[in-house]
Amino acid sequence: MISIANITNVVLFILLTYILIYVLIYILDKSRIGRAINDLINNIINLIIGSNEVTYYTHGDIAFKNEVNSILSKSGWLKKYKITETNDPDGATIVINLTERNDMDIFHTKPQYYPNGKQIRFSVTTQSSNEKPEIFIDKDNWMNGVPESGLTLSQYREYVINHEFGHGLGYDHQKCAGMNKPEDDKYYNSNKQVLCPVMYQMTRGVPSGGIPNYKVTDKDFTERIRSRYLGIL
Ligand SMILES: [Zn+2]
Repeated sequence: MISIANITNVVLFILLTYILIYVLIYILDKSRIGRAINDLINNIINLIIGSNEVTYYTHGDIAFKNEVNSILSKSGWLKKYKITETNDPDGATIVINLTERNDMDIFHTKPQYYPNGKQIRFSVTTQSSNEKPEIFIDKDNWMNGVPESGLTLSQYREYVINHEFGHGLGYDHQKCAGMNKPEDDKYYNSNKQVLCPVMYQMTRGVPSGGIPNYKVTDKDFTERIRSRYLGIL
């Protein structure tokens, strides 16, 4: 027999369990090990519910939107993700902005961003605990390209979208060239040069023996961001 009292107990039980889980997650959130556990739980949940469906919203003019769509419609990330554009910025998994150079200043405050004193600006993806990944594409770079990267303008655009979108999907930076392990031989060409993974920071150029690249490689799927709580990538 199901009585009102039983139903009340069940509802109370669910409510208390929910509060307990919420408090637990809050506590876990405050410590380093807790964040790692939290990330693991999130990754397992993602695996179970199959959250390989990703939507993005693009702020910017129609030319920018079109080019982003074109790049993402042939992106190597499609190998593991179903990526679609949405008209709803709030509902989007990832938000992409075309941002004026002046508005990028807040991301460029640390001296280590400028090797040899040369200020090469780059685009960023921000990630914080309760916000979705947001990509800020430096408008000057987008319009003019970056000669130091060794990429043509259209290649640079493809690189920067694939790279920042990779961060949005939760992937971290990769090393390039001599930094790779022997099993990475398949990435070398006949001149013993290596194609840099797209998650290598290519804007400032590639190390010697490296080839600038703008396509997603298999290697790009191998390094997950360890914490979702990083500020800028
Ligand atoms: Zn990056």
